[in-house]
Amino acid sequence: MPDAVDIYGLLGYPVSHSFSPAMHNAAFKALSLNAEYRLFEVSRDDLSGFFPSIRQKGIRGFNITIPYKEKVFAYLDTVTKAAQLIGAVNTVKVTPAGLEAHNTDAEGFLMHLSEQLGFSCGGKRVALLGAGGAAKAVAVALCRSGIRSLRAYDIDSTKVTSFLRHLREHFPSVEILQAGTIEQLDTREADLLINATPIGMNPLDPCLVDPSYLNERLLVYDLIYTPRETALLKRAREKGARVSNGLGMLLYQGMIAFEIWTGCPAPKTVMQRALEGQLS
Ligand code: NAP
Repeated sequence: MPDAVDIYGLLGYPVSHSFSPAMHNAAFKALSLNAEYRLFEVSRDDLSGFFPSIRQKGIRGFNITIPYKEKVFAYLDTVTKAAQLIGAVNTVKVTPAGLEAHNTDAEGFLMHLSEQLGFSCGGKRVALLGAGGAAKAVAVALCRSGIRSLRAYDIDSTKVTSFLRHLREHFPSVEILQAGTIEQLDTREADLLINATPIGMNPLDPCLVDPSYLNERLLVYDLIYTPRETALLKRAREKGARVSNGLGMLLYQGMIAFEIWTGCPAPKTVMQRALEGQLS
């Protein structure tokens, strides 16, 4: 009998737009692993039924995306300290001891920032748009890396207030401030501006930051990768800022997940090419 295929996948709703199957299946093929990455599109009503069936379906690991990153804790057996601090998980490994959960968004963002963009976080001032799951991962990663200050704005002020209170408790050496308006993010004084809201995914979306607040000293990082260049990145580029979309973060979070699942070094070039193929 042929060996059973190891199944991996993406749990979320909806998931059909995802680039992850192309990235991981290319990596499995490159390393000749008998494995396949699938999409697990599971509605809220069916979520509790997904977890008991994991082993029976041959699932060895999975990623988690919107809307479940912050909602699956009750089903997990162990959660890394970093993921607990963030309050969200995006990668689960199925082990004999149970479901082991990680947040590779945080580490993936940092690896992209340092390895590919050459940005070192020590002493830097950061302005952050958003207070959802991705913003939390990015904020925790940055606070752990020694930034000097973090200013954050979200349209939902209650959400950002409670998240920043949590961050202050864990990172007393970082100056953590809530901006009541986007202007109060003080991007003129910042080193790094991050968009972790979905504004920009629709090509008709506006640039959230007034271009007069953008300048050539800033690195502007938009977590969005489709479109490749959001209105924010376009304006920032025109103002002479360095810019990056979120494709690098997607790549690195996927590489870390791949290594957690398989124990093999992730084939970076293969995975990167697969992602770029999806974009074009
Ligand atoms: P999320 O949980 O929905 O969080 C988005 C946050 O932005 C919410 O708090 C939302 O508030 C807020 N927001 C919406 N419109 C806003 C505005 N005009 N001004 C300020 N805040 C606003 O989503 P997420 O999972 O964090 O993802 C955020 C973005 O990051 C998405 O575009 C996602 O595709 C991207 N992402 C990329 C990667 C990558 O690897 N590159 C990884 C993860 C996420 P409300 O809830 O009140 O609307």
